[in-house]
Amino acid sequence: MTVTTDEQRANLIEAGQHLAAVLRALEEAVAPGVTTESLDDLAEKMIRDFGDEPCFLGYTPEGAGRPYPATLCVSINDEIVHGIPNEIHKVLSEGDIVGLDLGLSHKGVIVDAAITVAVGKVSDDSRRLMDVTKAALDAGIAAAKPGRHIGDISHAIQLEIEKAGFKVVRELGGHGVGDRVHEEPFIPNYGRAGEGEELTEGMVLALEPISAAGKAGVILAPDGYTYRTKDGSRSAHFEHTILIEKEGARIITQ
Ligand code: MG
Repeated sequence: MTVTTDEQRANLIEAGQHLAAVLRALEEAVAPGVTTESLDDLAEKMIRDFGDEPCFLGYTPEGAGRPYPATLCVSINDEIVHGIPNEIHKVLSEGDIVGLDLGLSHKGVIVDAAITVAVGKVSDDSRRLMDVTKAALDAGIAAAKPGRHIGDISHAIQLEIEKAGFKVVRELGGHGVGDRVHEEPFIPNYGRAGEGEELTEGMVLALEPISAAGKAGVILAPDGYTYRTKDGSRSAHFEHTILIEKEGARIITQ
């Protein structure tokens, strides 16, 4: 989506505030013993209480064989993204790291964001993986300015993850958002500065670095959605929807 009117911009900002509030509540709800289904229920209830619509529920991404069955994606430890919270009974355990990825539609504007949260006390390695991936998102956002290119975002994210000794999961990446859940351009989490489409004022993008602690190969589970690391190493994921403005990126989902 490209924002061209004050009304679109206001709706986008409201949408982002709603999504941020839901993610904060989910983060607070995460604890050992909590089921993934209860997190999904909480997300759906809060979104509907705002008068908004969950936009992953019933959505069929390109290449998927069936619509996504839940509001929230919950990806635990070696699950990279798109973990389904409400089909298999899953309970969070002390020491897990859990990715929470959520999209909603508010007045027709779609926003998308994700966080990775520690369940109780986690290992130093897991903490560092999360911190580095969050820092990679911040670096990508800092690189997103009018006149710069998609490759500047990609490169900034890659540098942050790889300098820490972690791997970029290359099969997945960021994307345009706003009118639909996934729009052009695709935003790889690796690449060269200066390459790719030029960023212009009004562009709405979802930046989402996805990292792995070990090798970065992925396996798609038989459920058709859950991506895991091939080597069983842990993965972290952070995402914001941003709006490209004259001075730089405005973070919409915080
Ligand atoms: Mg996304």
